[in-house]
Amino acid sequence: MNDIKIYPLHVGTLKKVLRTPAVAPEDFEPSPLIAYLIRTDDEWVLVDTGACDPEWSKKYHHILERPEQMQIENQLAAHGVKPEDIKLLVCSHLHWDHAYNLDKFPNAKIFVQKREVEFAITPTPSQYVFYEAMQMGLTPPWLSSAGRFEIIDGDVEILPGITLVTLAGHTPGSQGVLVETGSKRYLIACDCIATMDCWETRKFGLPIPSSIHVDLAEYYETFRKMLRLDAEILPGHDFCVFEHPVYPYE
Ligand SMILES: [Zn+2]
Repeated sequence: MNDIKIYPLHVGTLKKVLRTPAVAPEDFEPSPLIAYLIRTDDEWVLVDTGACDPEWSKKYHHILERPEQMQIENQLAAHGVKPEDIKLLVCSHLHWDHAYNLDKFPNAKIFVQKREVEFAITPTPSQYVFYEAMQMGLTPPWLSSAGRFEIIDGDVEILPGITLVTLAGHTPGSQGVLVETGSKRYLIACDCIATMDCWETRKFGLPIPSSIHVDLAEYYETFRKMLRLDAEILPGHDFCVFEHPVYPYE
């Protein structure tokens, strides 16, 4: 039986972000940036690596608070893990608030979906800023680490009990991580389900897409796939994950 643990890491807080579903300005709320550390018997797997520094974030995106202890390397240190120990790294997608800091992990193979890499190179203009795209005259944060990309196309089991699953919609190549441990199943859904109210609110039997999306038809297909997976959801930007320092919890 697989004995796998998942630790949510708090790697920053955006001060004011519009939530989905949202109806009024008071729905602007702080939003955490989350990475996930997975431990198996003999490997660490890191899912996402957080955002740029706060000054850059303020210029192009949102006001970001990231005290020293929320730096990704310090969050890992709290678990006795050094960046060099990470051999397997998963990028859920290549947005600025998930795919910075890849160069801090020199020994990591970086799993990215083919469709995500293609779209990050030539996004639609509406999505340029999320990728810090070259078309804006910027250097995408992942570019210097692309030599270590392990480009995959579809659902792939990377370790026993740990499967990358495509979750298209928020971006074309978004992926989640399905973790099967003992009798529990978790889906680290990242920005496909940014906050749990999107997952728990059902309209026509399906959850609610993020306000940031590239293809709603694909998004709803992804929801149907997620419902079939029948796993507990771990979201991309919801403080609720920190109610438990580790999953599964007692
Ligand atoms: Zn995103």
